[in-house]
Amino acid sequence: MTAMNEQKIPYKIYLSEDEMPKAWYNMRSDMKVKPAPLLNPGTCKPMTAEELSGVFCEELVQQELDDETAFVPIPQEIQNFYKMYRPSPLVRAYCLEEKLGTPAKIYYKFEGNNTSGSHKLNSAIAQAYYAKKQGLKGVTTETGAGQWGTALSMACSYLGLDCKVFMVKVSYEQKPFRREVMRTYGADVTPSPSMTTEVGRKILAEHPGTTGSLGCAISEAVEVATTHEGYRYVLGSVLNQVLLHQSVIGLETKTALDKYGIKPDIIIGCAGGGSNLGGLIAPFMGEKLRGEADYRIIAVEPASCPSFTRGKFKYDFCDTGMICPLAKMYTLGSGFIPSPNHAGGLRFHGMSSTLSQLYHDGYMEARAVEQTEVFEAAEQFARVEGILPAPESSHAIKVAMDEALKCKETGEEKTIVFGLTGTGYFDLVAYQKFNDGEMSDYIPTDEDLEKGFAGIPDIPQNRE
Ligand SMILES: *Cc1c(COP(=O)(O)O)cnc(C)c1O
Repeated sequence: MTAMNEQKIPYKIYLSEDEMPKAWYNMRSDMKVKPAPLLNPGTCKPMTAEELSGVFCEELVQQELDDETAFVPIPQEIQNFYKMYRPSPLVRAYCLEEKLGTPAKIYYKFEGNNTSGSHKLNSAIAQAYYAKKQGLKGVTTETGAGQWGTALSMACSYLGLDCKVFMVKVSYEQKPFRREVMRTYGADVTPSPSMTTEVGRKILAEHPGTTGSLGCAISEAVEVATTHEGYRYVLGSVLNQVLLHQSVIGLETKTALDKYGIKPDIIIGCAGGGSNLGGLIAPFMGEKLRGEADYRIIAVEPASCPSFTRGKFKYDFCDTGMICPLAKMYTLGSGFIPSPNHAGGLRFHGMSSTLSQLYHDGYMEARAVEQTEVFEAAEQFARVEGILPAPESSHAIKVAMDEALKCKETGEEKTIVFGLTGTGYFDLVAYQKFNDGEMSDYIPTDEDLEKGFAGIPDIPQNRE
């Protein structure tokens, strides 16, 4: 592209309402090797729609199990809700490029422009919509730092649904602000593990004084959903249906890039359970799977919770209570809890089974980064681009900057696109630690990881 054309690319590429996606894209439809099915932990047989519908809403069960349909129409009511905060801007990071002195062209898709502060609202509204359509009274869920709980309470209050959130106790105590945002939107927030559920009481009896984990909170939320009439459980990441809803991120990104004839070389996203990354890469991965184009796709995870880079590709539980279906994924074991000094989010022990299969089959790469270098990147980014990034998102910033600096060495003008999943206003305790020089890194030893691996169930499928 000539320098003249180059000038024409605006700082922010917006789409009109007409250009917004009308259907979600299901990456699985183009995968030759489909992600392995969820298994019933009792029988080790694939979960049927009927079994799943005791836990999840019916329409979402259909989406979960559908590996064939490429495009799923977005209901008009969800499209309308999206219009309140979407399309999200695709920003050309001119200031960061200049600061780094790189010939690379860097773009980021910014999902932090809504009160929940992250991409999670894209799936929260969809899940709440289908629950409402089914005539349910409410939904239950877990939340760690609180982004998902906040997004879900916004969606539920909009649709008039009850919302019960189990919040990991350490976050409940250390992050009171997000808790209050959820309560302001009308959600009922309980610190987990709690005495209000059987599984919570059991976990507390075994580990008195535990500050909780996402896995515990999932177990409690599932128990409440399955024991209360008119309630279902909803999950903000990991599941196929969540990746489907999040494809709106990638579809918008692709439309925006196509408007200017831009073809990315490298696409980067942080990976907790894999939903934002799965959403961002969806249409690009589709092209790659169909052999129409090639892209380098990089998942970035914390070195303190390295599911992709050091985990095992096995069937495992998604929760600590071991009551949820088994998913085949890169996992550190459902008993794995990241070191307490880990501040940067992305602390789930497993990973989306779709992304796990794609990684296993060589369609994407993964990289683990340490939290102090992540916060350094976050600070550099904030100082030139203005946005205060979420620590999770900053994992992607770090690797995008690394790749841009490699281009500086080689002189290559690569186009890098990364997902900036959210803002960090509620993570200022972590920023404070970083600013005070009190942040440290902890990389689990092989022995630490072995303890987690020992909890991976010994089922026939795992012995193959
Ligand atoms: C939840 C969250 C993530 C990680 O979740 P994924 O499902 O892996 O996308 C990343 N960034 C932000 C801001 C989040 O809230």
